[in-house]
Amino acid sequence: MPVHLPDTVDAAVGHLSDGGDVTILAGGTDMMVEVNDGHRRPSGDLIVVNRIPELKSWRHDPQQGTLTIGAAVPYREMLDGPIAAMCPALAEAARTVGSPQIRNVGTLGGNLGTCSPAGDGLPVLSALDAVVELASAEGRRTVAVGDFMVGVKRTALVQGEMIVSVTLPVVDGWQGYAKVGVRNAMVIAVASACVVIDRSRSSVAVALGSVGPTILRCPDAEAHLAAALDWPSLDVAPGDLDRFGELVSAASRPISDHRSNAEYRRHAVGVLARRLARRASSAGLAA
Ligand SMILES: Cc1cc2nc3c(=O)[nH]c(=O)nc-3n(C[C@H](O)[C@H](O)[C@H](O)COP(=O)(O)OP(=O)(O)OC[C@H]3O[C@@H](n4cnc5c(N)ncnc54)[C@H](O)[C@@H]3O)c2cc1C
Repeated sequence: MPVHLPDTVDAAVGHLSDGGDVTILAGGTDMMVEVNDGHRRPSGDLIVVNRIPELKSWRHDPQQGTLTIGAAVPYREMLDGPIAAMCPALAEAARTVGSPQIRNVGTLGGNLGTCSPAGDGLPVLSALDAVVELASAEGRRTVAVGDFMVGVKRTALVQGEMIVSVTLPVVDGWQGYAKVGVRNAMVIAVASACVVIDRSRSSVAVALGSVGPTILRCPDAEAHLAAALDWPSLDVAPGDLDRFGELVSAASRPISDHRSNAEYRRHAVGVLARRLARRASSAGLAA
């Protein structure tokens, strides 16, 4: 098959607009599994996007208070250093992805492109209300990540479009990510949660993975914790913490499958969120 290695977004979208069965490849850690398993048979041109400098880079805008991460930045670059300092929950999520080999090449763009409810980067993007930038031969547009993730492995990408980057706010507060799986490493999440506590807005965001058709937000739990927190110590009474966990569990819509059952997932996601809120409280008191 023809393989293209564009070095600009314009060149990449030029190939995408040629029509036909065109496939985008970044790190290949999802795609090649599908090909090897016989679930996908790319027959047309392959567009390899992880040599495009704009996709491989990240930038911080201190004026806007945002961090923009190119779609082809590998998880390895999120584990520590500036990205981890600005977005600790993303670093925590990245550390749980696969193995060092997977983290060396796997990308956020690929996580979004696959859009599995178990994708570890996605609850973090959701809790931070990330904005996804897309490009096509017609130009560029931005989409809120909540609108980008349409369903199980379904996105708002249209024919001829590719993901360029995601932009996140650099939050003044506390954020964390946690997941449970059937073992401690190299594991796809059975349930996952991201909690973001924004001191400047006195707001809380909670996003859940692997407990619904796509990533779920929990408006009732968010409002409850925001009202119950002692700002700025981030302390919360035990009863309020328990209620927070219950509301998170109630917001989940899990199914039973080969990895776990719905009842366990509903329970686990409440426990994860409660533990994250307790960690926030300890960190706030220590600050
Ligand atoms: C052994 C193993 C362990 C894994 N463990 C985890 C884990 O713990 N957690 C987790 O979340 N995932 C895990 N994964 C899945 C995978 O590593 C991640 O989803 C990763 O983020 C995919 O990124 P990639 O660059 O390799 O994507 P690719 O495989 O290159 O692409 C994935 C999909 O996204 C599309 N795509 C890629 N880039 C773009 C773009 N710029 N624009 C539009 N579409 C695009 C592709 O066409 C394809 O459909 C694992 C995979 C393996 C093989």
